[in-house]
Formats: sequence, structure tokens, C-alpha cells
Amino acid sequence: MEQLKQAIRTEGSVLSANVLKVDAFLNHRIDPVLMAAIGREFAERFREAGITKILTIETSGIAPALMAALELGVAVVFARKQKSLTMRDDLYVQKVYSFTKQVENEVTVSRKFLEKGDRVLIIDDFLAHGEAAFGLAKIVEEAGGAVAGIGIVIEKSFQNGAAKLQEAGYRVESLARIASLENNQVQFVEETIH
Ligand code: 5GP
Repeated sequence: MEQLKQAIRTEGSVLSANVLKVDAFLNHRIDPVLMAAIGREFAERFREAGITKILTIETSGIAPALMAALELGVAVVFARKQKSLTMRDDLYVQKVYSFTKQVENEVTVSRKFLEKGDRVLIIDDFLAHGEAAFGLAKIVEEAGGAVAGIGIVIEKSFQNGAAKLQEAGYRVESLARIASLENNQVQFVEETIH
């Protein structure tokens, strides 16, 4: 998605060979015009997938998920990140390790917001090792729903999350795919192929 790639080029900063900072439009300040375009792009790609609900994870998945949900006419549920819980009877719980933050969170979704038969589109801001997406997919499946697809704003294709999710049979649609962050440069996948 060219508009997104342009925002990454002009406003993104490479923190290390593994981490891209995009707090100017996605992770801290949010650009609503870009978010609306992202929502339309996700909706276009998944329009025929029979989506009944979007599931994301707080905090940075919420903005793109909400815009996609508005386009598709469905609700958004966002999973919460919490430290070890004691009361959990009414929750789905999955452990998700964050390589970026080097912490393990328990990700939870209230049982009342996912239903058997739901066709769920999972949306997240970044895809790195696939931990968050796999955790959300397990929650959907535990609830008796189906994962209709996984929509990612920025995929770091040099990490193994996308490959692992595809091997597991999930459809992954990423709006920008980064081949490398070496030498403080963002290289997109298409640019290295052509
Ligand atoms: P995964 O679960 O796929 O290993 O990592 C994805 C999660 O980690 C995303 O929800 C995102 O919050 C965070 N993340 C991973 N890589 C980056 C990155 O390069 N930049 C930012 N801002 N967040 C990242």
C-alpha cells in the first residue's frame, strides 16, 4: 500500500536492525486519514471472506482494526494484556511473549464477546515472530470460531511470523512488507525483488 509505505519512509525511524519506530502515525500519534485508508484497504482485501468480527490487541491494533470494522460493518474486540490473573473463569487466556519488550503477557478476551461460528479477522499493527497473532488465533478457535484471515499493517518479513502463520494455514495480508532494516534503511520487499 503506497500511502503507508510513504508514511514509513518519511516518518518511520529505524531503532535497530530489528525494530522500526512509527510513533508519528501509528503507535503514539495517530494519523486518522492514513488509518481510514488502511481500514479501506483491509476491507477490500477481506470483503468476500464473510467476516463477522474483528479481533485485535491493545493498544496499537485498535486504530486500524476500528477503521476496518467500520468499512466491513462489524464490531471490534480488543484483547487485553495483563499480568498473571487470578480470576479467569469468564475469560479466554493465552500467553504471548513479546520479543520487542522481552516480557510475557497474558492476553485475555471476555468469553461473552466471541461466539461459536464467528468468522474472525485478526488485525495487528506489526507482525514479527507471530506470537500475538498465534495467541489471538488460539483464542478464536477455543471459542469455536474460525480465523478468516490475519491483517497486518507492517510485516517485518525478515522475521519468521508470516511464514509460520502461512505454514499453519492462515491467510496473511500485510499492507507493507519490510525486507530489511539493516544500516538504518527501510527496504521494502518489493524493492528488493525488482
Ligand atoms: P510478534 O507477536 O509478531 O512477535 O510481534 C508483534 C507485536 O510486537 C506487535 O503487536 C507490536 O506491538 C510489537 N512489535 C514487533 N516488532 C515491532 C517493531 O518493529 N516496531 C514496533 N513499534 N512494534 C513492534
